[in-house]
This record gives sequence, structure tokens and C-alpha cells, in this order.
Amino acid sequence: DVTRTKGNEFEDYQLKRELLMGIFEAGFERPSPIQEESIPIALLGKDILARAKNGTGKTAAFTIPILEKVNTRVNKVQAVILVPTRELALQTSQVAKTLGKHLPNLQVMVTTGGTTLKDDILRLGETVHILVGTPGRLLDLASKNVANLSTASILVMDEADKLLSPEFQPIIEQLISFMPKQRQILLYSATFPMIVKAFKDKFLSKPYEINLMDELTLKGVTQYYAYVDERQKVHCLNTLFSKLQINQSIIFCNSTSRVELLARKITELGYSCYYIHAKMVQAHRNRVFHDFRQGKCRNLVCSDLLTRGIDIQAVNVVINFDFPKNAETYLHRIGRSGRFGHLGLAINLITYDDRFNLYKIEQELGTEIQPIPPVIDKQLY
Ligand code: ADP
Ligand code: MG
Repeated sequence: DVTRTKGNEFEDYQLKRELLMGIFEAGFERPSPIQEESIPIALLGKDILARAKNGTGKTAAFTIPILEKVNTRVNKVQAVILVPTRELALQTSQVAKTLGKHLPNLQVMVTTGGTTLKDDILRLGETVHILVGTPGRLLDLASKNVANLSTASILVMDEADKLLSPEFQPIIEQLISFMPKQRQILLYSATFPMIVKAFKDKFLSKPYEINLMDELTLKGVTQYYAYVDERQKVHCLNTLFSKLQINQSIIFCNSTSRVELLARKITELGYSCYYIHAKMVQAHRNRVFHDFRQGKCRNLVCSDLLTRGIDIQAVNVVINFDFPKNAETYLHRIGRSGRFGHLGLAINLITYDDRFNLYKIEQELGTEIQPIPPVIDKQLY
């Protein structure tokens, strides 16, 4: 059970009263396991390398200690939270604002690509305590001397393995060079490949390592596959729509063009459907994401843009219209359902070419993906 804990209470951490109020008002009654492991250690100022399943409350695990440490009377950037995507930056800043809403004058700023640099420059002229952003834009602001990171002594890297992939790693290292030598680094992710180890050895000092992965992997998500021909996929999806009790669903494709194409097909079938992919204008992406989260549409077709960290509790079904290439992507996609103890259903459409991959991913994750039965028990999702 992902919600099983050691029995600690938020009151045990000696947090500021205003922060406790924010936590309780957010509806958090007691810390989740990853929060129990991280919060006291982070409060001590230690570096952390934490692995925990999707949907187990990692965001609050690092946001709560940051909010506790930030001094809102000091007009300086004190913490930086790095995330790999723009949507995740917005979501994370929302969590910080919600939990910190009673801290007097707390200022959280989001900065991501896809918005005008000028607005960010103006905003940074005012008070900012916590900066949440994607690496490219943050580096841009730091190198132009617009964002002063020399006072930011806490760095969080959420979805750290993604942030350390070759596209981001050099940017991250440069960003760190703008931060103070005495700093605290907190790394969070569901997956930790080797690249993370190299980074850990280079930048972290005696990190406290947390691994809540083994007992938590893909629990609560029932996974099925159906063998189909590429040409039968839409027909198969149509059948799924008519049989499943979908609260909200996310349907993954492997490319941008397939996302648009499929969204059109789904609409033609008479089902409501949004789509989102990396080539869309940012404002449009935000609106779609926002409206989907508000429940304005039942189905969302997307590319792997949305696989990481996004938390929409109403999603009870995830469909891999295209089967992902590797275990990591699979885990992140499927982690969209079954969040925080909620149950979820994952359905994989498998073509002849995907067969070996299905087997490989099953092995790698030590999980079971079963053939889809004629009737799926509603209790499972
Ligand atoms: P992760 O980053 O581990 O994938 P999130 O931080 O996105 O998970 O949290 C998943 C969901 O759990 C969110 O909706 C969040 O509000 C909720 N949540 C987090 N911590 C708690 C808690 N202590 N009690 C109740 N709900 C929580
Ligand atoms: Mg997360």
C-alpha cells in the first residue's frame, strides 16, 4: 500500500505554523512514505538521492523543507527547483504556492521556455524566493545576470534522470556553477540510470539515499495487452471506449504526427478528445492541459511530453496506442494512473514488431502484463 507510513505526523517536524496550515488545507493529513524519509533529512541540510514510485508525493517531499527554510523577509532567490518540462514547472509551482499560501509574502516564480524573456526579466526585478523552471531558460537568465543564483543554496532536480540526460546535463552543470559552493542538492525520480551515479559522485556530498521503489513499482495498476495489426488499432480503441468505464484517459502515441492523426480519428468516432504535443505553441499547450485537468474533456492523446510527473487524479485509464520503446518510458507513462493509492488500468496495443519489446519491458520491470480478458472487472480501476 503506497499510503502506508511509519506513523509520523506533519506536526513532528517542528514546521512553521503557517506552513502546517498550508499543508493541512491542501488536504494532506499525514506524510507519505517518501515524505517521511525526505523531510527530516532535507531539513538537516543534507543532500538526498531519492527514488520513489510516481504519484507518491515527491513534490511535497522537497517543497515542504524548502518552504520551511525560505526566509520571506529576505528578498533573494533561496531555492531553485529544476524540472524537465514546462507543464511540470507550472504544476510544481502551484504546489509550492498552495502549501506556502500562509507564508507572508512568499514569492514563487515559474520560468520556462516558450514565454517571452522580457516578462521574466521584469518579474525578476521584483521579489522572488523560489524559482521553478526548466534548465534552458534558467541558464539563459543566469548567464545574462538577470537571475542571481549565488544566493540559491538549495537545488532540487525533480525527474532527475531526465534532467541528467545528454540534452540537459551540460546545462545543469553550468547552472550549478552559478550557485554557491555551500549548497544542498535534492534529486528525485522514479528511475535512476547510470548517468545519475556519475553526477552524484561529482556534485553531491555524502547524499542520503532513499529507495522506495522495490515495494512500490506499478502497484495498483492492472496492465493488459492486446495483439493488433497497425491497421486495426483505431478499431480496437473504439471497442475499448465502448467497453471501459473511463473516468478520464490518456492515450500515448510515439510521434507528434500520430498524435494529431489519432485525435482526429477519435473525434470522428464521436468521442470527445484533446491532444497535446511538443510542437504546439506553449500557450495552447497550457490551455489544453488546464482544461483537461478541469475535466472538460474525457480523453487526451499525447506524445511523451506528458509522461513525467504529471498528476491528474481523475485519469483511471492509460492506453499505449503505440507501445513505448523502453521500460523507463513505460513506467513513466503507466505511472499516470493509479496515483496516490488510486487504482488504474493500463492497456497496451501490441503489434507484431512490439512483441519482443513487451517481453523485455515486462522482464526489466519485474511486472506482469496480461492478455486482455473479454470483460474487465470495474473494481480494478
Ligand atoms: P510524484 O511526484 O511522486 O509522482 P506528486 O507529488 O505529483 O507525486 O503527488 C501525487 C498526488 O498525491 C498529488 O495529487 C498530491 O496532492 C497528493 N499528495 C501528496 N502528498 C500527500 C499527502 N501527504 N497526503 C495526501 N495526498 C498527498
Ligand atoms: Mg513528481
